[in-house]
Amino acid sequence: MLKINLRHLEENGLRLQGELPAAELDLGVNDELIRSERPLKYDLSAELLNDAVLVTGSLALPLDCECSRCLKKFRTTLKLKGWAAHLPLEGEDKVAVENDCVDLTPILREDILLDFPQHPLCKPDCAGLKNNSVRTPEAADEPALDVWAKLDKLKLK
Ligand SMILES: [Zn+2]
Repeated sequence: MLKINLRHLEENGLRLQGELPAAELDLGVNDELIRSERPLKYDLSAELLNDAVLVTGSLALPLDCECSRCLKKFRTTLKLKGWAAHLPLEGEDKVAVENDCVDLTPILREDILLDFPQHPLCKPDCAGLKNNSVRTPEAADEPALDVWAKLDKLKLK
């Protein structure tokens, strides 16, 4: 777990750098196309405000994906740069403090899931499964139609 000790924070803020194992981040993602099995890298600063902790920095989570169009396997990194979390210590939304520590793990998990890719693509313009013949740009724009056209031809035979 990634915890911030509020006692240490009281003096002059904290720098948190390291890796959080995938098992501890525990995204609960069970997607055939996206696997999160490598550790989350974090580089964060935490400071104590009047009644809250402000955490800012960057997060990088390597993902093993399978392209949702062409099924090619590829690796990508989900990056959250300029990430910030405001953790109230007072009021209704206050974060749980245990032994002077705030656990950042659930907040990281939530924000990463919000940014999680839904349909991973090996490249933004992936044309999907295709034959290796030279394609005209028009055909590349409409891979689905292309496939249906070929199916129709097959049926006619
Ligand atoms: Zn692809």
